[in-house]
Amino acid sequence: MTARIIDGKAIAEALRTQTATEVAAVQAHTGITPHLVAILTGDDPASAVYVRNKQKACEKAGLKSTLHRLPATTTQAELLALVAQCNADPTVHGILVQLPLPPQIDPQVVLDAVHPRKDVDCFHPENVGLLTQGRPRFLPCTPAGVMHLLESTGVKTAGAHAVVLGRSEIVGKPMALLLVQKGADATVTVCHSRTRDLPSITRQADILIAAIGKANFVTADMVKPGAVVIDVGISRLNDKLVGDVDYNAVAPIASAITPVPGGVGPMTIALLLRNTLTAASAVK
Ligand code: NAP
Repeated sequence: MTARIIDGKAIAEALRTQTATEVAAVQAHTGITPHLVAILTGDDPASAVYVRNKQKACEKAGLKSTLHRLPATTTQAELLALVAQCNADPTVHGILVQLPLPPQIDPQVVLDAVHPRKDVDCFHPENVGLLTQGRPRFLPCTPAGVMHLLESTGVKTAGAHAVVLGRSEIVGKPMALLLVQKGADATVTVCHSRTRDLPSITRQADILIAAIGKANFVTADMVKPGAVVIDVGISRLNDKLVGDVDYNAVAPIASAITPVPGGVGPMTIALLLRNTLTAASAVK
């Protein structure tokens, strides 16, 4: 068996085009242009690239984007003041605080300070609570991007055993929540660094989602033949971007697989645009 390659770039492009159409419709009906503010604190080069890509995607889809660049010496109070200013600004619909933050700033305090109706990353406890109850205001960008990839590829989640590698607040936990929700109806196992005999669990997966951040960690002997394999991980290895899955070894036995880059990554940005559109559409 040779796996079908799930083309995240093409699927994300289609979603961004749909978003652009809906943005134009919102503008026509309400005069509102969805507006995303990104706050980049410090000099992390990877973060600068992520933020630039998010801004470019916004502009291409007709959303307004504003970047606030703050120095690495910014205090928590200064960052909180900027967040409060964006919260109070009615022309701002989405606020994105790019992580990681410099060590003097507690990310939890800052993320909790973002107004829940502008929390387009879906990190605020109110939005995580709504998601947990199955009535989400926003969808967590990366996990929702994975769900969209599965749907677009015709992968049926209902009744499937989905194994999620990783339990972070950003990827693993919300991924498991989306998969287990009514409508998605997967049977979900979540694994982490304390899981015993990981390969025996991953080999049971009809759908295996890897989000641990360890290059080429998932080897062919950890995958059931015919499984759908989604690779969220991004690591740099010998100057190349690689995922958590040993792609060359696993692709021949999987039924479908995402590449890195060009799999999950583009979806995350596409979902961020949708959340900003959702936030702007909710403005009365
Ligand atoms: P994270 O916060 O570091 O969490 C990693 C998770 O993996 C933790 O739950 C950890 O377990 C688990 N883990 C680590 N080593 C393990 C092992 N040997 N066996 C089993 N579980 C293990 O990372 P994250 O933010 O979720 O990100 C994960 C990866 O996805 C990273 O490479 C990141 O760059 C990438 N990512 C990509 C996108 C995208 O758009 N494509 C978006 C977000 C993240 P413990 O909880 O026990 O420590």
